Amino acid sequence: MKHDPVPSDVGPNDDASALRIRWKDGHVSEYPPRHLRLACRCAGCVEEMTGRPILSEGSVPLDVHPLAIHYVGRYALRFDWSDGHTTGIFPFPYLRELCPCYECERPTGR
Ligand SMILES: [Zn+2]
Ligand SMILES: [Zn+2]
Repeated sequence: MKHDPVPSDVGPNDDASALRIRWKDGHVSEYPPRHLRLACRCAGCVEEMTGRPILSEGSVPLDVHPLAIHYVGRYALRFDWSDGHTTGIFPFPYLRELCPCYECERPTGR
C-alpha cells in the first residue's frame, strides 16, 4: 500500500537560501525557491486543457521567494510568492517529486 508523503516541518533552511521540507519518513528536501515557483501548475501558470506552460521564465524574478506558506487541508501547500502569485497549490506528492536531492534525482532503475 502506498502512502502519500507528508511533511512534518516546513520552513527556510539554515542560511535561508532555500525552502526546507522535512518529511515524516525522515527525508529532507531543500528547494531553491525559484525552482518551486517555476514548477507551479495552477491555471494561471499552465494551460488547463493542454498542459502548456503559460508562465514565462523571464517574468519570474531571480530572487522570488515565498512570503507565506499555507497548508491546504492535509494534502498540499500554497505559497504567497514575492512576485504576487498566490494561487499555486502544490500537493505533497508533487512536492516530493520535485525534490532536487541526489537520492531523488538519480535514476532508480525501475
Ligand atoms: Zn501558478
Ligand atoms: Zn530527495
